[in-house]
Amino acid sequence: MTLSEDAARTHALDRKHVFHSWSAQAALDPMVITRAEGSYVWDGHGTRLLDFSSQMVNTNIGHQHPKVVEAIAGQARKLATIAPQHANDQRSEAARLIAERTPGDLDKVFFTNGGADANEHAVRMARLVTGRPKVLTRYRSYHGGTETAINLTGDPRRWANDHGTAGVVHFFGPYLYRSQFHAETEEQECERALSHLAQVIELEGPGTIAAVLLEAIPGTAGIMVPPPGYLAGVRELCDRHGIVLIMDEVMTGFGRTGAWFFSADEGVVPDLLTFAKGVNSGYVPLGGVAISGRIVDFFGERPYPGGLTYSGHPLACAAAVAAITAMEDEGIVENARRIGSEVLGPELAKLAARHPGVGEVRGRGVFWAVELVSDPAARTPVAPTGGSSPVMAEVTKTAKQLGLLPFINSNRVHVAPPCTVTEAEAREGLEILDRVLDRVDELVS
Ligand code: PLP
Repeated sequence: MTLSEDAARTHALDRKHVFHSWSAQAALDPMVITRAEGSYVWDGHGTRLLDFSSQMVNTNIGHQHPKVVEAIAGQARKLATIAPQHANDQRSEAARLIAERTPGDLDKVFFTNGGADANEHAVRMARLVTGRPKVLTRYRSYHGGTETAINLTGDPRRWANDHGTAGVVHFFGPYLYRSQFHAETEEQECERALSHLAQVIELEGPGTIAAVLLEAIPGTAGIMVPPPGYLAGVRELCDRHGIVLIMDEVMTGFGRTGAWFFSADEGVVPDLLTFAKGVNSGYVPLGGVAISGRIVDFFGERPYPGGLTYSGHPLACAAAVAAITAMEDEGIVENARRIGSEVLGPELAKLAARHPGVGEVRGRGVFWAVELVSDPAARTPVAPTGGSSPVMAEVTKTAKQLGLLPFINSNRVHVAPPCTVTEAEAREGLEILDRVLDRVDELVS
């Protein structure tokens, strides 16, 4: 199939002038996306694809939601930009809507442009409040691609000449399928992972640790839903040692797991909670840090030494106000929960039972990982962490050919449609995935 004339021009200009994220530039052949609606996108050939990636797991409200698009257009006509030191109706409203949905006393919001800078600001706040230098984050985590955020990230994306960021210490979190702790049950995994973290804190010196930064559910690194009690256990350890708990809900927040925030579902209130993505589904870049009373009080007497020209940008905040309101009015979070528990969860379990190439499926809401293995007994991944392989390249190609756009990472297919996905769409995607897994079985057998 050939690209339309416009799509061919887009592709040619992209290859000539656009420098892409995370990629060696020479071999790139990016798919041209010309339009999108709801759970679907259309490529430069005019082919419709079911978006099981939500792009970067951010279009929680689906593509082109009319109320969000209208809010952005209306705000652009009224007041397209305003400096962060002034008050603005959209920023105030967005902050109220976020504060009302985050758990506990996370009642003030510092706005950023995305998730990485939200994490960097949260870490800075924690260091200022505690006067301590170190930050503990888990291996198999993702906290962003900027200089400090990538070093907070616990996966091998850092490159050979990376100097690292002083004071970042990694620990192992719970991941029963590949347990570091030789655990056989969720209870054991939880208990041993907490005891490991307690030991890391003790050996690093509690008086040197500003923060534990933790994804509520590690997303990009594999959607490892923590065993019940793990997040509460981390909260307890932080309380015991005066350590700030930063919960990264950039990917899990705003409906993705079938709740507004996963930490709230687990009954845990962090000191700082970072968000981005689903706050306005990425229609305009926005992120932020929701801040608890204790930390707000600290800065009551002292200025916060940090800021961004576009903090609380009115177009981004107008999109957030419209998106959160529509999610509430249209029962979108409840939809994500129902699709997860009634369709994706049970149907993915059936796929896992039918396909020997599937090692494990796990997830919550509209946030699932299908882990592919060449040897189920040895749990040998079909691609290395952070890398690719011919099998995974074939998975990507076959899915696209069959009309599905999944989120692929290492040896996993992530099933992350918009929170608005209908049951029929979810089943359509699962049928395609079934056929993709047939191909995996052929390749690994
Ligand atoms: N934190 C988590 C958990 C994420 O998944 C991401 C992005 O995928 C980030 C932080 C970084 O967000 P951004 O790409 O908006 O900087």
